[in-house]
Amino acid sequence: MIPEINDVIEILKSNFSAIDPLPVLKAWEMAVERHRKETRVSGEPYIVHPWSVARITAEMGLDEESIAAAILHDSHADAPFLVRLERELPGFIAEVVKRLGIIRTIITSHLNEKEKDDYRKYLLAVAGDLRVILIRIADRLDNMRTLDSLPGEKQIQVASEVRSLYIPLANRMGLNAIKSELENLCFYYLEHEDFLSLDAGVKEIESSAKDYVEEVVALLETKLAEEGLNAKVYGRPKHLYSIYLKMVQKKKTLDDINDILAFRIQVDSESQCYTALGVIHAAFKPVAGTFKDYIAVPKPNGYQSLHTAVLGPRDKRMEIQVRTVEMHEIAERGVAAHWLYKERFRKVERANEMKFNELRKTADILKLKVDEGFWSLSSFQQEVFVFTPENKLVVMRNGATALDFAFNVHTQLGLKCTGTRVNGLLVPFKTVLKSGDRVEVMTNANQKPSSDWLKFVATSKAINKIKHFIRLQERIETRQRGREILEKELRRHKLSLPKLLKDGTLQKAASELRISNPEELFSAIGEGKLEPEKVFTAITGDESEVIEAPKTEPKTQDRKKKNRGIPIEVDGISNLLVRFAGCCSPLTGDPIVGYVTRGRGITIHHAHCSKIKELEPERIVTARWLAGALEGEPHVLKVVADDKPGLLVKLSETFAKQNINIRRIFTEDLKSAKAAVFFHFSTSRDNADLLIRNLRKIKGIHSVSRVSGKSIPK
Ligand code: MN
Repeated sequence: MIPEINDVIEILKSNFSAIDPLPVLKAWEMAVERHRKETRVSGEPYIVHPWSVARITAEMGLDEESIAAAILHDSHADAPFLVRLERELPGFIAEVVKRLGIIRTIITSHLNEKEKDDYRKYLLAVAGDLRVILIRIADRLDNMRTLDSLPGEKQIQVASEVRSLYIPLANRMGLNAIKSELENLCFYYLEHEDFLSLDAGVKEIESSAKDYVEEVVALLETKLAEEGLNAKVYGRPKHLYSIYLKMVQKKKTLDDINDILAFRIQVDSESQCYTALGVIHAAFKPVAGTFKDYIAVPKPNGYQSLHTAVLGPRDKRMEIQVRTVEMHEIAERGVAAHWLYKERFRKVERANEMKFNELRKTADILKLKVDEGFWSLSSFQQEVFVFTPENKLVVMRNGATALDFAFNVHTQLGLKCTGTRVNGLLVPFKTVLKSGDRVEVMTNANQKPSSDWLKFVATSKAINKIKHFIRLQERIETRQRGREILEKELRRHKLSLPKLLKDGTLQKAASELRISNPEELFSAIGEGKLEPEKVFTAITGDESEVIEAPKTEPKTQDRKKKNRGIPIEVDGISNLLVRFAGCCSPLTGDPIVGYVTRGRGITIHHAHCSKIKELEPERIVTARWLAGALEGEPHVLKVVADDKPGLLVKLSETFAKQNINIRRIFTEDLKSAKAAVFFHFSTSRDNADLLIRNLRKIKGIHSVSRVSGKSIPK
């Protein structure tokens, strides 16, 4: 019942000039013991499976150490067992067995194209060595060959996984024979009805074409022999799945497909390949556009041959491949055959040096990187492969953290992330993930990223998302701050911001200031690029602001005192409708003149305003402050404060509490996150002193000082 490991050793011996059977025998002994009590679903002893896998790997051309690893691939290698392997068997066997154990845990179904690609990369990264992948492919092949004993659902799962992950890998490694067999087996299980009917159809064609094939083979061999070529010719139907694909792709039936049969000519040397091609093209009419020279330009997986199609006997189209024995070997067996071929056919000494160089060439063809001693797949180790709780694979760059994972799965998951678990354990955001980790993300709707988070992530995706969020947040805060400042300013002029927004006035004012919309206007104010007063000016008229004298008496004593109207006498007349010019914004007590505008009343300018020279002299009138205005005197305060959102609002509130109207605000950015704000206002000296004391109590204020003369910024 238990198969003979000697059968496998015989294959090894036929492949290599000298082998050391000890690792194989030792591994076999351990595997037999390990699987002693196990049986396969089919009822046979479990050890039959490792034996079959070892045989397939030996046929691929792998060496004795790889065969030993193949024997142990299903041996439930726990830590103590791996230690034992390391002690009792040579080199890398324990490592290969361990990696095969990890690959066993990859179970997939229903993958989309992107996921398939990620899983293939994951497989290569976990494998880390070409030999691990080759053994795994051999394992899948034996499973597919014995899939009949498994329940239907399982058959479909295994076959789908083989089709999406392992067939592309087999193809990439040039394992043509295995790839075709796997394709046919998957076809059998996944499109069962189609398989049966196509199989019957092709068998019929094969038997009816038997005489024809024999006739062509004999004809070709004769013609080639006439030219002195010792050529072998083979004729057979192409493999079922490739015919099926052609039918599906070209939407044709079997009867419409004219290239089911393929002929292969095998010669001794590369130059004979071209001689043979010449013979064929001289004897039969070539079909235009069918010649392909894969000898001069091999396929990416190393495949070499000449392809052509001609009109053969009875004007039937024939497809012909011409190749050397070596090319055939490589076409069928792939990767390992590249170096094995020299071993077997040229009897080269199996020095490690040579083996390594040949491998490097092979790996070059596969675009893989080979390190000495390990058939490394290191280009795939620049990525880390982890899983969601739902077993979805996530691929990120090496060094990615738990927080990176959250952002990779979904931006919202990242932004709302409050905690992360790796393999069930709560871990910090900055935990670097390892391939195979299972990561869980906890969220809360109220969570907000901070700039600290940038220290916890490594992927550009997470970095960009966090930066974007912070910038957005800052923009929102700036805009809000600007809106509050403007609202305050407008309220001072008895205007309601919401109303101005609603009736479109603010939009108009924004356009006048060459700002696209009110939101941008708030931002500009919040950033200190635009003074709120300018907005007011834009709302009320070009260059001047309107302050209407109240028509009714204010209710309270306090208000009465403040809002007495504008205490200016123009040409000896008080209580006129006046505006203050935006160009010079005279302060209470400044020397002033009036200007009679066309239809917009009287504008008050500073007596030294430069604009006055441009005005029509006959319209200039005398103006003076009334006694009441001078109860308060003009003040300018310089406040140095932290440049923090909301601080300006807090300052303004303090002014309002003392019933002081701010006439102008001017801000200056200072270095080291501080800002200087200049407040222009009028009030009594006592009130101003009280204000200064109150301002100094506010958190974040560094200094409050009176300024005058030239230190007042214009
Ligand atoms: Mn297995």
